[in-house]
Parts: sequence; structure tokens; C-alpha cells
Amino acid sequence: MNQENKDRYSRQIKLKQVGEEGQRLLLASRVLIVGMGGLGSPVSMYLAAAGVGSLVLTDYDHVDVSNLQRQIVHTHADLGELKAVSARQTLISLNPNVKVTALDYELDERELLEQAAQADVLVDCTDNFPSRFALNHASIITSTPLVSGAAIRWEGLVSTFMPARVSSPCYQCLYPDTGIEAATCAMEGVIAPIVGVIGAMQALEVINLLLKTGDSLAGRILALDGITMEWENITLLKDPDCPACSQQHQS
Ligand SMILES: [Zn+2]
Repeated sequence: MNQENKDRYSRQIKLKQVGEEGQRLLLASRVLIVGMGGLGSPVSMYLAAAGVGSLVLTDYDHVDVSNLQRQIVHTHADLGELKAVSARQTLISLNPNVKVTALDYELDERELLEQAAQADVLVDCTDNFPSRFALNHASIITSTPLVSGAAIRWEGLVSTFMPARVSSPCYQCLYPDTGIEAATCAMEGVIAPIVGVIGAMQALEVINLLLKTGDSLAGRILALDGITMEWENITLLKDPDCPACSQQHQS
């Protein structure tokens, strides 16, 4: 590791769970972040700053003025710009030593599977069920851990799905595909920092997974109520009839 990196990451290297070896592991890691909105902003900024060496960002939306209240990876100067491109610029200015790839178009299933297979961890920062189910499917097929977050109104959820573990539930065990559209922040509203808290938790979980430290969120959900300021730790079981992950449906 060169001196600049030793200095840049010195506060992490100081931690016994990280050290130079752990930092090298982060620098050699690749993470796919789907959605560069309210959750994708803190997830990508913390992972870039922490020195996760390769980040792939996907989003085909443009920056709208109504996004700027909470999507802090974009600035006023980025209005109208593609979110993936705008986010990449911010991350590069935060840490020019991290490789950031911006995919500013809708990935088809083949491309999503290719990207998932190359990643060490997938991060769900989207706001709709079709994208979430597609990413969950890619996680199961490629056996790549998926860190999922959701935030709306004053509430947020974070969980991890580990398809390599037979007993681990998947995203669709939690949310069966009912065809009902997810409520969105545009419909329901959202208080700005709730996406920051949940996104930061996702970034922390990604780092724990990459370093194999800590107790992962696999098999449980952390739910934050931003009004009462309480976290709930909810156990999540695998649905034996889940169409996405149960064995009988996979053959
Ligand atoms: Zn499932």
C-alpha cells in the first residue's frame, strides 16, 4: 500500500478488525449499487471514501430539483444530468483513487447477471418492486450477498440476503410479488435524513460483509421509526414456498 493510501485510510487501518490487510481487501473489492437516489447517495459516498476499490453505479434517471432535498451525491449544478454520471463525478472528487463505473441505462437481465457475478456485494437502493425483484433474482442466481434498504416517510428498513446459505431468506420471502406497486417518496413524502441513516447502515453492512466482520443482518430486518427514534430487530424466516429462492422452484 502506498503512503497516500496509508494516510487516507489511517483511521480505519487503526481498527483491529481492519488493519492494512483489511484495507487492502476493501481496495480489491467490487460493489454494485443499483439506484443513485436517496439511499444510493450515502451508500456510494461512504464506500468511495472508505476505499472500496471498485464501485459500479446504475441509474438511468436524471437529477430533478425535488431530488436534492435528500439525494446528497447530486448538487444543484447537476440538475438535468444523468444520476449515474453526476454521482460518479462526486465520488471521483471525494476519492480519485477509487474506480467508479457509471451505467446510465436500464440493464437488461443478462447485463444485470453479468454485473452481479463480478461484484462481491450487491446493494439495493431502488424504489420499486420490479427492480428489487430483478436484483434479488440476480443475487440468487450468482450467489452474491444483497444488502437491501428502503426508506419512506419517517421510516426505514435494512436487511441482508445471503443466497449462499441454504437457510437464508431472500427479498421475495419478505415481499411476495403481489403485483401491487410500492409506495414511493413522491406519493408519501420522506424526511431527508432517514435515507441517510438507512444508506449509512447499508454501507456499514457492506463493509462488514467484505471484511467478514460483525454479525450480518442476514435473517433479520432492522426497522427504524424516526418519530419514536427506536430500532426494531425483526427475525425473518425463509418462505419454503418462495418462488424466487425455494429449492423446488429452482430446478
Ligand atoms: Zn425467497
